[in-house]
Amino acid sequence: MSRKIANGSSCTGCTVILVQNLSDKVEILRRYASPSHYIRGKQAPDYKGEALQELEMLTVNAKEAQEFILMKILESNQATEYLSKFMNGSTNISSFKRHVPVVTYDKVQPYILRIATGEESSILCGEQIVELLRSSGTSRGEPRLMPSILKNLDRRTYLYSLIMPIMNKYISGLDEGKAMYLLFVKAETLTNSGTPIRSVLTSYYKSPHFLHRKHDLYNNYTSPDEVILCPDSQQSMYCQLLCGLVECQHVLRIGAVFASAFLRSISFLEQHWCDLVNDIRIGQLNSSITSPACRLALMNFLASPDPELADQVEAICSCGSWKGILGRLWPNVKYIEAVLTGTMAQYIPMLEFYGGGIPLVCTMYASSESYFGVNLRPLCSPADVSYTILPNMAYFEFIQLEDGLRLTDHEEVIENDKLVSLVDVKVGCYYELVVTTFSGLYRYRVGDVLQVTGFYNQAPQFKFICRRNVILSIDSDKTNEEDLHNSVTTAKKILENRNYLLLEYTSYTDTSTVPGHYVLFWEIKSTHNKSPAPLDAQLLESCCAAAEESLDYVYRRCRAHDKSIGPLEIRLVEVGAFDALMDLLVSHGSSINQYKTPRCIESSLALKLLNSKVIACFFSPRDPECSM
Ligand code: AMP
Repeated sequence: MSRKIANGSSCTGCTVILVQNLSDKVEILRRYASPSHYIRGKQAPDYKGEALQELEMLTVNAKEAQEFILMKILESNQATEYLSKFMNGSTNISSFKRHVPVVTYDKVQPYILRIATGEESSILCGEQIVELLRSSGTSRGEPRLMPSILKNLDRRTYLYSLIMPIMNKYISGLDEGKAMYLLFVKAETLTNSGTPIRSVLTSYYKSPHFLHRKHDLYNNYTSPDEVILCPDSQQSMYCQLLCGLVECQHVLRIGAVFASAFLRSISFLEQHWCDLVNDIRIGQLNSSITSPACRLALMNFLASPDPELADQVEAICSCGSWKGILGRLWPNVKYIEAVLTGTMAQYIPMLEFYGGGIPLVCTMYASSESYFGVNLRPLCSPADVSYTILPNMAYFEFIQLEDGLRLTDHEEVIENDKLVSLVDVKVGCYYELVVTTFSGLYRYRVGDVLQVTGFYNQAPQFKFICRRNVILSIDSDKTNEEDLHNSVTTAKKILENRNYLLLEYTSYTDTSTVPGHYVLFWEIKSTHNKSPAPLDAQLLESCCAAAEESLDYVYRRCRAHDKSIGPLEIRLVEVGAFDALMDLLVSHGSSINQYKTPRCIESSLALKLLNSKVIACFFSPRDPECSM
């Protein structure tokens, strides 16, 4: 007979019975390793308790779950060329910990390229790699490709299936209306051997796991699937906003995956509300929407003219300030959902402006490599969000960062015994995340820096601190100091050919425009003794364009294809501006001996100072090249 023990600390708010009998426990562990049991055959998640009860068991048994996951990964992948090199066919966990090195993408890339050109998945993974997920990280300017197997969809779905039960604990009635989530797919390509290359979200939105959610009242979206799946993001956005407006009285929550995409949609609304109002008024879709799938899907929404709703939307959109407009357009909205942590935190003020007090909710932390965790206190302020890592997503290890935030160098070799396991991290300490997945990543440095804020049962909770080395980011682009330096070095050659020198530079992301854009502050000096050629706009615009051309693929794609980043701007500052910057930073505690011009401005005082010294601004006149 099972011995059942009541455990008080429960996220369900009710007492959860934990199964402690060994055979029951083995069964539970088996389920952790394969979340498909939980997904398949379900009509809808049980929002009253079952999903949260599972979460409770998973976090109480985090240590066992992690060991079991690693054991299963090794069993499944021990024969791969990659693992055999280090473990010689063993499935022994201590052998894994002793011999398998901690790696960055450069070490995995050769295997991925071999698979892309037609070699068997088995060089890296025991199961068939069915797709390569294009992550926002880049390696020498090329997007990183993460291997993925079919079962990953179950794992991702498992994490998604926890979100609404968690929300339901805090906000009731979410099954009585709809969600206006602005979701987009990106164009996909094929490798030479025919394996699809796509983004992780495109993979999910095209999967039956997403498309078969129809029965689930908690995931009832205003956007029809055909519109979400339209690869033309402008047409998709137009139609999604139109559906959201038509259903405005039923919408209970709004959002997008990342805050940047949500804000872009608001700015799109600012530009196109007249057309949208007109469509609602006459009951016909604008002729600029040419996608047959979108046109067909919208027929139901615009079945008849609705002049009353058109007048309402028009009155709201034309009334001057857009402060708090979201609550006026969607009067029953209970929260706005989007990732607002990490680099997305820069968008909080803008969202607060448009939201006018509607709660901002961050629900999950995930990546192309693996999904990671969920926020168990979704109504907390975005600044206080911590994610509880789910121990059944992958095997997690952590590199402790010695001096608080001093980040380890990218190429540094990490000694195997320096890794800390999931349940052994310490509250307050900073770590870099390392994952081992079922799909062929072994002790892979994800590149995220996290701080432990506490534990939920045995599972640690982390605040997302930053991406290692990233200094500029608007959307999925991640530009580090070295990328920026290379880009500026290329661009400044144009100046040097005209007898000017770039004395100093720094940067920041200007998100007061939508879309946001990169700004470079440049201080320039003439090297011509007598009369220097005047600095004309064309010259500086060419520098802007050259700087953009040298940034990585993801930046160029966001700029030229997705239009989620605006043209790069150079702000020319007067001579002496960077000396004034140094004086300011030294007066605020920087050591004059060790002073280095920050390559990215974070302090608002420093930004104010540099802006006060600007003598002219120039923008890139064209989109950068973007072909893969
Ligand atoms: P990708 O590899 O393109 O899927 O991007 C994944 C990365 O986005 C993660 O490694 C994080 O750096 C970032 N990210 C994802 N979710 C969050 C989140 N909730 N908060 C902060 N950053 C996030």
